[in-house]
Amino acid sequence: MSKVAGRRASCYNARVVDSTLGRPAGRADVEWMREALAEARQAPAHGDVPVGAVAVAGGLVVGRGHNRREVDRDPTAHAEMIALRQAAQVLGGWRLRDVTLYCTLEPCPMCAGALVQAQVGRLVYGADDAKAGAAGSVVELLRDPRFNYRVPVTRGVLAAEAQALLGEFFAALRERRIDE
Ligand SMILES: [Zn+2]
Repeated sequence: MSKVAGRRASCYNARVVDSTLGRPAGRADVEWMREALAEARQAPAHGDVPVGAVAVAGGLVVGRGHNRREVDRDPTAHAEMIALRQAAQVLGGWRLRDVTLYCTLEPCPMCAGALVQAQVGRLVYGADDAKAGAAGSVVELLRDPRFNYRVPVTRGVLAAEAQALLGEFFAALRERRIDE
């Protein structure tokens, strides 16, 4: 019994707890989320809100992206959409059941819709988005039993870091507006 418990302890990082499913987030989740945060940090360089995503399959990154809405003048250029599109190209198909998508922010309705369409194996996200989140904050699109595919979700992984990035970005934006 202690053997099993020991293995479990080494697999999971007890600091991060998934409040949605009551399942502890894995150490790997934290590591992949750091990659997503690194993506997010690239967005402000071109005036975009810092949100990042990485798509992981078989222990490898198969897609990555950060918000490019402003620089691309594209309302669909969200981090998740970019990462999913790239993953589909890398894996050679639109069905992404072997993919776990890590995103720094709770997906919006468009991205949640894309996750369902892609039949993504699992979503792990950081901060909740009280204004636009479609994983339960505003609407719940990922686990609605009326759809024929539901995406397992782990939330709150490195949420404070993701939130801090957003906070810094918007604070700098406000400061710039006051200076002008
Ligand atoms: Zn989105």
